[in-house]
Amino acid sequence: MDTALLIGASFEPGQETPEPILNPRTGGLILDVPEASTAQVDRAVAAARKAFDTWSRTTPAERSAALLRIADRVEAEADAFAALEALNCGKPINAALNDEIPAIVDCYRYFAGAVRCQHGTVAGEYLTGHTSMIRRDPVGVVASIAPWNYPLMMMAWKLGPAIGGGNTVIFKPSEQTPLTALKMARILAEELPEGVVNVVAGRGQTVGNYLINHPLVDMISLTGDVATGKKMLDAAAKTVKRTHLELGGKAPVIVFDDADIDSVVEGLRAFSFYNAGQDCTAACRVYAGKKVYDTLVADLTAAAASITLGAEDDTTNEIGPLISQRQRDRVASFVNRARELNHVQVTTGGEAMDQGFYYRPTVVTGAKQDDEIVRREVFGPVVSVTPFSDVDDAVGWANDSDYGLASSVWTRDVGRAMATAARLRYGCTWINTHFMLTNEMPHGGLKQSGYGKDMSAYALEDYTVVRHVMIKHG
Ligand code: NAD
Repeated sequence: MDTALLIGASFEPGQETPEPILNPRTGGLILDVPEASTAQVDRAVAAARKAFDTWSRTTPAERSAALLRIADRVEAEADAFAALEALNCGKPINAALNDEIPAIVDCYRYFAGAVRCQHGTVAGEYLTGHTSMIRRDPVGVVASIAPWNYPLMMMAWKLGPAIGGGNTVIFKPSEQTPLTALKMARILAEELPEGVVNVVAGRGQTVGNYLINHPLVDMISLTGDVATGKKMLDAAAKTVKRTHLELGGKAPVIVFDDADIDSVVEGLRAFSFYNAGQDCTAACRVYAGKKVYDTLVADLTAAAASITLGAEDDTTNEIGPLISQRQRDRVASFVNRARELNHVQVTTGGEAMDQGFYYRPTVVTGAKQDDEIVRREVFGPVVSVTPFSDVDDAVGWANDSDYGLASSVWTRDVGRAMATAARLRYGCTWINTHFMLTNEMPHGGLKQSGYGKDMSAYALEDYTVVRHVMIKHG
């Protein structure tokens, strides 16, 4: 297993405190990864700075070719990457191999294409005797900071548009899940010029904090918690760095009385509990029409209880454990506080399992809008269901959240679907589905979910700057 950092062209062990990397299935130690020292971060930033001079002047075709080679290398090592991600995160191997790796490969390929097809304002004489043109140039050196829920995919979402756009990067994986990023560093060092991507491991408060405050970093890209995003903004203010923030979510799901309940239940079984609910778009906050509420609660309870997890034969597992004991205890404490309320019932789950960091898929019913379980991000396999009788209540409650990432509407009436979608204040609204992403379409939030767009041409815009060049005639 790779534990070395990538700094410029050099692979070297971190010089600071070793971080124990745990197997979430068992709680056992996989290995230690020493974190980067400040001197190592300084060298990584200097390497990125130096590489920027030449990388930023490569052609889109050259950068595209590099992204295609990276995609091919990930694809060629799909089994090894999936096994490592499954080990470090506890993901079922089939989810890592069949869901995530193809999406990751496609992400690099998408940006390989997109970088060659950028559009913009036409050049012309907007002032008599002068020709104006718009350029899209890279921002500079980007500090990319990733979370633990989809380590390799978040790396692809960040590196694709950043290096495609001509930037250079210092990438810091989550301290809990650095293994696939450190393996990826070997490929990046072979397929990219020295210093274009540097990979440093370490904790947020130490390595991350030092990196985001670095005066030679031009842009900070974070996928993480709202509180961490606020720290990025503080750090960015000092030297007016650009920020790209993808923060949490608490996705509302509005189920109208005319919805196809079987398909709602099938959808929620998949989209609420995928990745053990550690997903910022997880369908975790259901508002169900009064007429369908009882059936939905009964069927969803049975569906959640039927999810396979913790089985010895991993190929049968549908979800894995939570990432850490701390995260499992946090999820458990949310559910325990909810079940103390008289009007709330835990209809299935509501308990940790006797192995690793597993928590049973949980349905909490009768929850009211002001309950903590409805308002706060749990980031675990827990769904609340709240009845509504009036569409204005459902839309009002759905929007009554600090978050604004993802939402869904379930109905057979296309007019009602469109009218409701138009009123929702979320970066994405799905109709009669949830959770589906595609590299051509943007992913990103409103409100405290942040404002950076991942995937799509909009991500390339976020990682480039618009510049005006004007030429005086004669
Ligand atoms: P986190 O914010 O604790 O950590 C994310 C990253 O930030 C890690 O690499 C961490 O080391 C780093 N970090 C933490 N404190 C830092 C600091 N002071 N300075 C610099 N870096 C720092 O989040 P997490 O626990 O890893 O991930 C879970 C959170 O991420 C959830 O809230 C979830 O909703 C959110 N998330 C959002 C999206 C999205 O697309 N919007 C995707 C995945 C996860």
